[in-house]
Amino acid sequence: MSARILVVDDILANRRLMQAKLAARYYSVILAENGPEALKLACTEAPEIILLDIMMPGMDGYEVCRQLKASPETAHIPVVMLSALSETADRVRGLDAGADDFLTKPVDDFALASRLSALIRYNAVTRELRQREASGVRFGAFSEEENETLNRDVNVLVVDTNPYNVRRLREPLEAAGHHVFTLEEAEGPNMTRRGKLDLVLLGLSDQAYDPLRLCAHLRTNDETRALSIIVTAEDTDNALAGRALELGASDVIQQPFTTEELLARIRTQTRKSRYVEILRNRVDTGLELSVIDQLTGLYNRRYMNNQLALWIKRAGMGGKPLSVVSVDIDYFKRVNDIYGHEAGDAVLKLFAERLMANVRPKDIVCRPGGEEFLVIMPETDGDLACSAAERIRRAIASDPFDAGVRDARKLVITVSAGVSTFHGEQDTIADMLRRADDALYRAKTAGRNQVKSIAA
Ligand code: GH3
Ligand code: MG
Ligand code: MG
Repeated sequence: MSARILVVDDILANRRLMQAKLAARYYSVILAENGPEALKLACTEAPEIILLDIMMPGMDGYEVCRQLKASPETAHIPVVMLSALSETADRVRGLDAGADDFLTKPVDDFALASRLSALIRYNAVTRELRQREASGVRFGAFSEEENETLNRDVNVLVVDTNPYNVRRLREPLEAAGHHVFTLEEAEGPNMTRRGKLDLVLLGLSDQAYDPLRLCAHLRTNDETRALSIIVTAEDTDNALAGRALELGASDVIQQPFTTEELLARIRTQTRKSRYVEILRNRVDTGLELSVIDQLTGLYNRRYMNNQLALWIKRAGMGGKPLSVVSVDIDYFKRVNDIYGHEAGDAVLKLFAERLMANVRPKDIVCRPGGEEFLVIMPETDGDLACSAAERIRRAIASDPFDAGVRDARKLVITVSAGVSTFHGEQDTIADMLRRADDALYRAKTAGRNQVKSIAA
């Protein structure tokens, strides 16, 4: 489980230390030493998680976080704030700025590892939704109905054997306008009248039930899968809390905690799960359910067109180059005819993997249909795109494919590719694709297994 993490800290020694810790866990690390640099890298490098120092000269961590969360391009990236301060007021300020989590410096290895794995799991859930969503309604603006979803009252189920704990939680939550239920009350008519449960507060320490089992149960049960689970734990129960996070708890609050922190964490978790709910609804009501091609896991034609429109617009405004490479497997029909459709499918899958392994992270690899693929290459001029296409061609041809064919010979597969580059504002998606196809056709007629481009 490897993820890209952006570490933002003004002090070199801190960056180095964090880099070493993360690299030891096989995360790949991007470093920024101030706020503006962090904002830039968050856009260009698309990290999966951001670890953000609070105290920095110039723009501080709160401001960086606010700007990250205000931009549709970066709002989805979880931000963990790192601070030498363990004061609750600062934590609350951070959570208000939109931070998803907090770690106190010096960062405890256990806490770091468990927070990261919880966030990565959260990312995995939201990633596909976001990709799907990108093809439909643009993220950022919520409809009136969606705003209602975001702002409706919060229903909290408190699970704790100790009546004192329940009482201590109930008071501040109800004072904040939330509805609180215990397990017994949740069975009753009150709960059903209130509608959906949002969140479970689960006591970890000194309970009559097995809290880990309950956690796992809530996560695997269809009706409760989407619930946020916040576990409350004694600070001596680190290991238990870590297991709970692994089993699917969304967050841990360590005793003793203040009302502000509890409310802020509930707010963050509720916002997250409602965000997922809204995305899900948009997907469900959308015309197209998915932007992912089922066979290869690449983007389908719909997403391709959507991204092309986006990048052409950006290239038109910002003047940065944009290229596309149209890639088509040579004589693919023969694979089907000789080895069968299943072997053909296997080749397509392996081909997609090899394609993905030979492009850069910012390239967008699509399968618009059949044995045709298109790679969108943002910020890439024609020459660069030609060498990228040539690298792809070589990567395919150099190593025969093991498609599980019974007589065991590996299949030699080659591709032809056509490159076209954005010409400026008058250029359209259709024209760019047509030029790429013309170039591809030339590559085919010139003997296949080669790259051609159309200059103008
Ligand atoms: P060329 O070198 O000119 O591109 O020849 P080709 O045989 O690759 O091209 P053609 O377009 O004639 O044939 C493409 C074949 O790809 C036909 C179709 O059966 C096969 N194909 C398209 N989609 C799939 C798929 O999802 N699975 C499998 N197994 N085959 C597919
Ligand atoms: Mg072909
Ligand atoms: Mg074809």
